[in-house]
Amino acid sequence: MTKVRVRFAPSPTGPLHIGGLRTALFNYLFAKKHGGDFVLRIEDTDQNRYVEGAEDYIVQALNWCGIPFDEGPGKEGAFGPYRQSERKGRYKEFAQQLMAKGHAYYAFDTPETLDFHRKDHEQKGKTFIYNWHNRLKLDNSLSMMPEEVEQRLAQGADYVIRFLTPPDQTIVLHDEIRGQMEIDSNILDDKVLFKSDGMPTYHLANIVDDHLMQITHVIRGEEWLPSLALHQQLYDAFGWQAPAFAHLPLIMKPTGKGKLSKRDGEKGGFPVFPLAWQTSSGYREEGFFPEAVLNFLALLGWNPGTEQELFTLKELTESFSLERVNKSGARFDPEKTKWYNHQYLQQKSASDLVPAFKVILKQRTSAQRALDDGYLAQVIELVKERATFVSDFWPLSQFFFEAPSMYDDKAVQKQWKEDTPTIIAQLVNIVRGTDPFTAAQLESGIKEFITENGLSFGKVMGPLRLIIVGDLKGPHLFQILEMIGKQDALHRMEIALQRLGNPNEE
Ligand code: GLU
Repeated sequence: MTKVRVRFAPSPTGPLHIGGLRTALFNYLFAKKHGGDFVLRIEDTDQNRYVEGAEDYIVQALNWCGIPFDEGPGKEGAFGPYRQSERKGRYKEFAQQLMAKGHAYYAFDTPETLDFHRKDHEQKGKTFIYNWHNRLKLDNSLSMMPEEVEQRLAQGADYVIRFLTPPDQTIVLHDEIRGQMEIDSNILDDKVLFKSDGMPTYHLANIVDDHLMQITHVIRGEEWLPSLALHQQLYDAFGWQAPAFAHLPLIMKPTGKGKLSKRDGEKGGFPVFPLAWQTSSGYREEGFFPEAVLNFLALLGWNPGTEQELFTLKELTESFSLERVNKSGARFDPEKTKWYNHQYLQQKSASDLVPAFKVILKQRTSAQRALDDGYLAQVIELVKERATFVSDFWPLSQFFFEAPSMYDDKAVQKQWKEDTPTIIAQLVNIVRGTDPFTAAQLESGIKEFITENGLSFGKVMGPLRLIIVGDLKGPHLFQILEMIGKQDALHRMEIALQRLGNPNEE
């Protein structure tokens, strides 16, 4: 059996959209499932659309996600080079091969003439298509005498080479996801394959390279489905075996209507790029784990046929199949992406999360404790459940590092009553006398104090939480007290007494 070889073939015209990343992922999964090769080919024949840094971005994005390519720029295999601009010299002979076989022809029509025809048709409510219908009336080697063609070429006239679409044929196409489709060749136009600047168009370069690189499966976005008829005809014209094709469904806006765009991300406040690009943030910068991104992308358009939602890359590789890729568009749900990140955050051990938390803490606090890995792991353990991103740790845990700089107004009104200062003043003694300073010891001491004084639990614990945390939220209070230690606890109680004092005196 031939070895499976797939390729991801982006044009470096900007950053990779998450739709592009999903295409790369499905290619990767398919290749790995079948023990095949995943090739990265940079389709940079259109120099006008070339964007500096885009190729680097694509490579970095694949590496960040953990789906590296086996062959590609900088990872030369047996089929390089992997940038089409570096393969420039190879395409002309293939265009000429098609000419020699009568499958292509020279066309000399100027952009102005074509534009005139387009507008003229538009005015009549028609669409101008360069094909069987009018090709003999236009300026090309089919309508001219061979001598004239020679003369024009000798004079260095600008030309393109067009594909000669055979008339009156039913082209039968097969797609692994969509099944069989039939197209009437008469509705197709004679696409440009090669330009006089020596560059092939996407169509020619793409087919030639897929053939030369021995690609067995072309897995790409649905937007390329309209090109399939031409591509199939090109394979037939060359007499080459075509690869299998699979066109992935579109990723739709959160509303479900229309293709997901950069603007949807800007409006909805979520990234549409894996990594930041210029002023747009990326999933990496927003604090997403690459595993979470891969996981949510995998389920955009593919379904495992079970209820399972969480998949490691290994599990995805094992379960993936093109048969389970849907035909219809996949609705993008930004909330679900966060759910995935939350899940992956829970799976990570507290100590694994310490380094990332430390980076944030460095910018936030000079507290000595923020340097203590053991302490940080304990903090993470206590707040992780409520976090979606590592960046959530700080707002959830600030009080583990610093005394509150202010108290929540509503909480003060609710908790700080006339008798509170007296209760807290007494509590200071209890806290001071607690030894060892553990959560358990504190709990029994404070509870005893509550019972002895005939107080309610809330009357003591509410204000105490306000003092320690600045608010009424947070994990188990005795646990917090144990962690911040006696000295800090007493200090926070003293400053609260000074700042909040007696609510009625003032
Ligand atoms: N260069 C095309 C793109 O930018 C590749 C399409 C294909 O995979 O055939 O998406």
